[in-house]
Order: sequence, then structure tokens, then C-alpha cells
Amino acid sequence: MFVTISRHLKNFSKEQRFDFYQSKYNYYKNMTLVAYHKISNYKIMVILSYLMIHIIIWCTDWATYLLPDRQYASEGMLIMNLLFACACFCAPFLYSNIAHGLFLIDMLVANCIIHYENFGMMLLFNIPCVVAIFFMSRVLEKVYLDHYLVSQQSENLVVHDQLTGVYNRNKLKEISTIEGESLIFPKDLPIGMLIIDIDFFKKVNDNYGHEAGDIVLKHTASILKNSVRSSDYVIRWEGEEFVVIAAGCPIEHSMKLAEKIRKEVECSDNSICPVTVSIGVTTYHGGNYHDALALADQALYQAKSGGRNKVVQYQEVE
Ligand code: GH3
Ligand code: MG
Ligand code: MG
Repeated sequence: MFVTISRHLKNFSKEQRFDFYQSKYNYYKNMTLVAYHKISNYKIMVILSYLMIHIIIWCTDWATYLLPDRQYASEGMLIMNLLFACACFCAPFLYSNIAHGLFLIDMLVANCIIHYENFGMMLLFNIPCVVAIFFMSRVLEKVYLDHYLVSQQSENLVVHDQLTGVYNRNKLKEISTIEGESLIFPKDLPIGMLIIDIDFFKKVNDNYGHEAGDIVLKHTASILKNSVRSSDYVIRWEGEEFVVIAAGCPIEHSMKLAEKIRKEVECSDNSICPVTVSIGVTTYHGGNYHDALALADQALYQAKSGGRNKVVQYQEVE
């Protein structure tokens, strides 16, 4: 179990690791000791939680120092382990161990000042608790890692097209508001919208078979992926039709991008047969994204009726 977790976490990028611990924190955050939910960063919250626990311990030590009767001090310290047990749900394994290890150091330092009557007994009870919470924290991390990987996989399946690997329609839902179906980009950002349709694709299927058609689809999708920036979205809209959403792309840039894609498809070898694409281009100015797609579709229709293998920008009819 220890090796599996470390291997997985090692394979994560820095951002993925942050996302993993942040999502673990969000999942368990109702168990945090202090309700300062306004800060969302898990690192700050976990460090504050452990700091809080240590402050409680120091206050208890101080009270014990002042008390004339210290016979229940060992039971008191034993209860502190419960706080660490609660906090380890939200915390990374490493943080939980450092914080809990410091608890033993707290006890050693406090004993130098307080001189507990039964310090040996205190250690005898507390060390097994620290070890038990060490294992508990590791098991919790493993359980959450399994949960995280499964939910990541299912999220990926939901928004990706299985044949081409690019996004499917669900991705648009994910990046738009539920009510108005408007895309969640800053208002003043120009959003380029391209609809790309493979010309005479039915003939590819008819002449070379469905599997060959699939190869052409995958090849075209990979050209699209390689032509756009990593922040752009390539979506398989339906059949042999793709949509590209390019944030921060004014119309002249969108036209250049479309022309680049058209040429790339025309010149590249997909190992089956030469194909071309027609592209309709428009800019999204807010509102329901289906309306903007309908405009891009009108431009696509013009590209088709104008002879195919063309890029057409949507123009309002006077
Ligand atoms: P146009 O130039 O007007 O776009 O003609 P077209 O033949 O490309 O368009 P049409 O809509 O007539 O045909 C699209 C074809 O795409 C029909 C359908 O069988 C095929 N198709 C849709 N999805 C898939 C798929 O996943 N794999 C394969 N191989 N073919 C698909
Ligand atoms: Mg077509
Ligand atoms: Mg079509």
C-alpha cells in the first residue's frame, strides 16, 4: 500500500498533486476543527489546523503547570491524539506525520518544565496512538487516492470522445452556465468559434470501409489538436464535424487558424485517401453558445455550397 501511493503521487505533476490534496481537503473539510472555510487553499488550512491543535496543547500544558494536582495530565494528553486523528482526514500524510511527531517533542519539552509524575506512562500510552494515527492517515490517503483516480477517469470519459480522444459535447456544458448556456469566459475576451466538417466523408466510408473512415476521423482530430493552443478546445460535435473554441482569438486570427487547419488537412497524409475540410467561422459575443454555433453553421453551409475545401466567415445579411 505504501509503495502504491508513493508511486502514484510521484507520477503526478506538481499541479496534479496539488489538485489531489486540494480535492481530498474539500471532500473532508467539514471535519476540520475550525470553521474558517473562507480560505480554500488546503495548505493554509491544514497548517492553520495543526497550529491550532498545538496551541491547544500548549495551553493545556500551561494549565497543567499551574494546577496543583497533575494526576490526570497523562489522560489529558491522550485525548489530544483525537484532534490529530480528526485533522489527518484533510491533511497530506507528510503534514500529518510532521505535526504529530512535533506533539511528542511538545510533551518532552513540557516535561522538562512541568516534571509530570508519570511521564513514562504518558509515553507508553501516546507513542502507540501516534503510530496508530500514522497508519490511519496512510490508509485514508490510499482510500481517497482510489476515489480520486476513479472519479478522474469517469470525468474524463464523460467529456472525451472515445474514438478521437478530443472533447465531446459535454465539455461545452462543462464550460458554460447551466441557466443561459453561455460560455464562462471574461466578457471582453473575443472567442473564436470554428465548425469544421470533412468533405464527402460518406464516400470515404463507402469506398474504403467504416474502419478506414475512423482512421481519417482520428487523423483529422489530431491535426486539429496540433493546430490549436493548449488553452483552446477541440470538440467532436457529431459524426465528421468538429468545433474549435479559441478564447482570446479575434476574427482575423480565427480566420488564419481556420485557413491553417484547412491547408494542413489538404496536404497531410492520413494513410487512407486525400480528404479536405470546409470551415465556418464566427466570433462568440456572449449569450447562448448554440446561437453562435448556428451562425458558424451558416458560414459552413456557404463553404459547402461554394465548392467545399473552403473557409467562410459568417457575415450578417444586410
Ligand atoms: P459533406 O461534404 O456535405 O459534408 O458530405 P459528407 O458525406 O461528409 O456528409 P454526410 O452527412 O452525408 O455524411 C457523414 C458521414 O459520416 C455519414 C456517417 O456514416 C459518417 N460517420 C459519422 N460518424 C462516424 C464515425 O464515427 N465513424 C465513421 N467511419 N463514419 C462516421
Ligand atoms: Mg461532411
Ligand atoms: Mg456533416
